[in-house]
Amino acid sequence: MYDYLREHCSGGEMAGSVVNLDALIPREDMLTPAAEYRGATLERIDIGHLDDAFFVNALRKPDFQRETAHWSPDKVVDLVRAFVSGDLIPAVILWRRGANVFVIDGAHRLSALIAWVKDDYGSGKQSLEHYGGRVPDEQQRIAEKTRKLLNGLVGPYAQLAGAKKNPQNAAPDVQVMLGHLAVNAIVAQWVPQVDEKAAEDSFFKINQAATPIDPTERLILRSRNTPNAIAARAIVRGGTGHKYWAGFPAAAQQQIETEAKAIHAALYEPPLGDQPLKTLDLPVAGRGYSALPFVYELVNWSNDIPDLSKSKTQLEPDPDGSGTIAYLKSVGSSVSLITGTEMRSLGLHPVVYFYTRGGDFQPNAFIATAAFVRDLVQKRRLVEFTKVRAKLENFLLAHKEYITLIIKRTGAGRRSLGRILRYLELLVSEYSAGKTDDDVAAKLQGDSEFAFLVPTMKVPNIRDGENVTRRFSRATKSASFLETATRSAVRCGVCGALVHRNSMQFDHIEAARDGGGADVKNAQVTHPFCNSAKPLLEKAWPW
Ligand SMILES: [Zn+2]
Repeated sequence: MYDYLREHCSGGEMAGSVVNLDALIPREDMLTPAAEYRGATLERIDIGHLDDAFFVNALRKPDFQRETAHWSPDKVVDLVRAFVSGDLIPAVILWRRGANVFVIDGAHRLSALIAWVKDDYGSGKQSLEHYGGRVPDEQQRIAEKTRKLLNGLVGPYAQLAGAKKNPQNAAPDVQVMLGHLAVNAIVAQWVPQVDEKAAEDSFFKINQAATPIDPTERLILRSRNTPNAIAARAIVRGGTGHKYWAGFPAAAQQQIETEAKAIHAALYEPPLGDQPLKTLDLPVAGRGYSALPFVYELVNWSNDIPDLSKSKTQLEPDPDGSGTIAYLKSVGSSVSLITGTEMRSLGLHPVVYFYTRGGDFQPNAFIATAAFVRDLVQKRRLVEFTKVRAKLENFLLAHKEYITLIIKRTGAGRRSLGRILRYLELLVSEYSAGKTDDDVAAKLQGDSEFAFLVPTMKVPNIRDGENVTRRFSRATKSASFLETATRSAVRCGVCGALVHRNSMQFDHIEAARDGGGADVKNAQVTHPFCNSAKPLLEKAWPW
């Protein structure tokens, strides 16, 4: 049987378990003019340098560098352990510019050690300041997990630094660590005093060789001043973090932050808890963590920007923020059709449309559904859709793997979007024509574009170590929960489809103006659109 989750589980899984060290080395524009530095450069970075405000405060990352949030807790712990065990840490590459020392390569290595020194694994003082006083629960949870691991295996840095004053009183293993810390260092290699462009090019060359950058990420990095890239970054961090929009007028900055915060909340509240899933109260767009490629695609798609990975030309930089604001507004408009309590919101339940049977978020399903919904609006088919919505959603739930199969068959990236869109349109048309589930299945079988869609209820084992011991895998547990929970979930009193907690309205069954009371018997839960369009929908459900 085809293992349909294998290809798509890794994104959510990996993204959900990385430590966010991004705040520990601030970003700076490499192009800021500065006098040439002629002095000597540091050859070895020891723990004293990382515990020293002079050196650490001079460290910068190029503003286009991807987030320092790609390491698991284990990897952070391994690096610190290696350092205190006297092991060799690969050299870092630095570039001197005015008062700043840019980390061209090695931001994760340096940040892991700084995190230990500062006791900040993504939710400490510096991280909180960077993220406007609050970090996502997910980030906080992983930070605490990392701290616990490291404190158990190595001990807090402050404790070792304290033991340094009286080493003879320290435990033997601590004395060994202190000895290593006294002499171990990371070698610093310096990029010669070239111009900014050459330093930037060497950054891309070095970093692509070490860890391949996702093509979408590279595109975002290279086009960091364009309105779509700025909008995507603002959304991913809810308007906080490094301000890529700091050069715009104050009013524009304010507006960017407000719009981005609202979109972030619509996509990522409530935060996704631990897997397996144990609630239907999921965020509509999965984890808001390392989601930059997805959000960037959403921004591009919402603004009809063509696939830039295939094109040599890029968008023009945004000079004043107006382009970024316009893009954010379009995204906000797309998202408000899917979720939220505005009158136009269909309140699509993420479990039906955007999550796999095993409980993983599918970015392509989200973007394709956004396209589908926008088409429904443009073609004035929202009422038609709503009348068949419950049947259509039951089909989607019963055949959850079809969207994954379409992505698998068609390829990731934009190519699968069109086919998912046509799949959803086919379902609307068939059910509108009064067809049954069996008719729809037969129709798909007879369509050359969808003939490969054959029913399978198999939930694959995720390689999380659980399946080998005959225990249920994480995906199986999530699937079992979702299967049971969706059967008894809250449904809309107008259309009969599932209602999500972020898009819930309470409707007078008999309108107040017709004498309907405010008692519980006259109240029903509905989707916002169903509530506002009730007169058009007549008595649509049950049929
Ligand atoms: Zn409804």
